[in-house]
Amino acid sequence: MTEHHHTCDVAIVGAGPVGLFAVFEFGMLGMAAHVVDTLEMSGGQCSALYPEKPIYDIPGFPRIAAAELVERLQAQAAPFKPVYHLGQQVVALRRGKSGKRWRLETSTGAKIDARVVVIAAGAGAFGPNRPPLPGIERFEGKSVHYMVLRRQDFAGKRVVVAGGGDSAVDWALALSEVSGHVSVVHRRAKFRAAPESVSQLQALAEQGKIELVIPYQLAGLEGADGTLEAVIVADLDGNTRRLAADALLPFYGLSMSLGPIARWGLNLDHHHIVIDPETCATNIEGVFAVGDIATYRGKLKLILTGFAEAATAAHAAYSLVFEGKELHFEYSTTRGLPCG
Ligand SMILES: Cc1cc2nc3c(=O)[nH]c(=O)nc-3n(C[C@H](O)[C@H](O)[C@H](O)COP(=O)(O)OP(=O)(O)OC[C@H]3O[C@@H](n4cnc5c(N)ncnc54)[C@H](O)[C@@H]3O)c2cc1C
Repeated sequence: MTEHHHTCDVAIVGAGPVGLFAVFEFGMLGMAAHVVDTLEMSGGQCSALYPEKPIYDIPGFPRIAAAELVERLQAQAAPFKPVYHLGQQVVALRRGKSGKRWRLETSTGAKIDARVVVIAAGAGAFGPNRPPLPGIERFEGKSVHYMVLRRQDFAGKRVVVAGGGDSAVDWALALSEVSGHVSVVHRRAKFRAAPESVSQLQALAEQGKIELVIPYQLAGLEGADGTLEAVIVADLDGNTRRLAADALLPFYGLSMSLGPIARWGLNLDHHHIVIDPETCATNIEGVFAVGDIATYRGKLKLILTGFAEAATAAHAAYSLVFEGKELHFEYSTTRGLPCG
């Protein structure tokens, strides 16, 4: 087995809330999981779209912030030692040579062999909306970044932030404390971020700590071998400016697309996978679907529905993973945590 080749009982596509709970449900029945997500973090929509928003309809939690729910789901899954492959998309699903196992391949070249596959892919893979700049892919990951993991990475650097929403404004504010120079490029004079953050941005601009380049939009990149030298911006009349820069951070939001899943031969209905609600099985043997991506008559797209589907899928998958072994239904209070 190489570093990029893994074997497990269940491969889960998507580390959203439902994928995370599937780790727990499969783990309770003795099935070990690998989980893949295109995002660099787990939590799916909860982490990417509304981490600070309170959710009111999670049983037992009258009110819980989406990010806290994700933390708790990770903690609940942790005893089962799931292996996470984050920042990579599942690009292919093929039957293994024996015909009984599945092989998933990810965009970074990892191969995961599993007896069953659970697709918990929500509305599809998240990806950043890329500005349409020729050759931008040569700079991505080196000097063009769509998310900031550590603001220290930009210490002393000349940073161009592009966008007018909360992410652009919040990161411009945060980076102004460490970066050498921060410019904010936005195609409108008005920002769409929280009013308090916009006031802070304007105050820092007046103090000369942030440069507002408005109304301008990105027009080109200068540099070689992934190292940025300047960002070219243009106003609505086509007049251009050259902003000397070490890094460009475009914050144009995230888009979701079903992507490769649409080509796996699954029964689809309007970008959703049709499942049998009694088992969460798809039309392909050994492949299950749960959470927002799964559909059937009367489906409610709620986190709690996805949780119940994860339990159903785990019970249905047991007889495939442990061929010939009968599953005796037990409560968690009876079973306890199998791993300690
Ligand atoms: C603003 C907002 C508020 C909401 N409020 C509530 C609420 O109050 N209560 C409630 O119950 N629900 C709420 N929801 C809905 C809830 O967030 C979803 O039902 C839930 O996130 C679905 O979970 P999931 O795990 O099925 O999918 P997701 O959370 O969408 O996660 C799916 C993950 O799969 C990944 N993925 C997809 N394709 C691939 C691939 N090929 N390879 C690798 N990874 C892939 C994606 O990147 C993503 O991270 C809200 C949604 C929004 C947007």
